[in-house]
Amino acid sequence: MKIPIERGCDCGGTYVFTAHGDAEFREATCSSCGSVASLIDPVSVSVTGERLLYRSKADLDGGDYSLSIVVAVMAVESFLTRLFLKLKGMENYAVTFKPPTPTQEAEWEKEFPKSGGFPSSAGFVSQRLVGTTFDKFVATSKRASAIFSALPDSREASPTRYFQNQLFRRRNRIAHWGYVNTSKSEAQLCHNVAVAAVSILREMDAATDWVAFAERMAEAARSGVAVERQQLRDILAVRRRSEPPRQAR
Ligand SMILES: [Zn+2]
Repeated sequence: MKIPIERGCDCGGTYVFTAHGDAEFREATCSSCGSVASLIDPVSVSVTGERLLYRSKADLDGGDYSLSIVVAVMAVESFLTRLFLKLKGMENYAVTFKPPTPTQEAEWEKEFPKSGGFPSSAGFVSQRLVGTTFDKFVATSKRASAIFSALPDSREASPTRYFQNQLFRRRNRIAHWGYVNTSKSEAQLCHNVAVAAVSILREMDAATDWVAFAERMAEAARSGVAVERQQLRDILAVRRRSEPPRQAR
């Protein structure tokens, strides 16, 4: 998938950087002064998710409204799965001191909910990362609730239901029912809602005490080893007692 990102040049011209998939961005030439610049991805839990938001914006600006919504939902889904894989990767690292392999990540992905839309996957990630529901997280995080309450018609709405109805339901109508007559205003709303959902997930990532989490995992692994050793000692002790006494020579 092609990812275009526009950036202004000091001269007033524009750079259009492009990348395909997760490859690096190519250098771009200013439309006006001809100077050359390069672009690197922001540090993010999901570089793919960040890129998909840019692609959704480009489709919106280019008039591909239905596609813009499909890609916006992909961005949110990418953030949700990456947050979960970050957590699984930390669990693994705390025990093995090794970064995860693609095979391990593919195995962990099986634990991730595959149905139930936004409420299901956001609830799953929220419980695992911050130990509470997505709605409670939004209500208790000052920044997350500010992001949510800035969305249109979000007053008194449950955040999970809101993201499901405003964004995921519209994507389903397109992807599953073949609805292709999305209006510009609908696509613009969906893009903004997706940016807000991703921003709240960034807050969740920031709110997660990853160091304490890794320490707990390492401690659990150590005590697990200690318990196993004790069990082994107990088994050996029982066996020794039940062995017939050796005959004195
Ligand atoms: Zn320039």
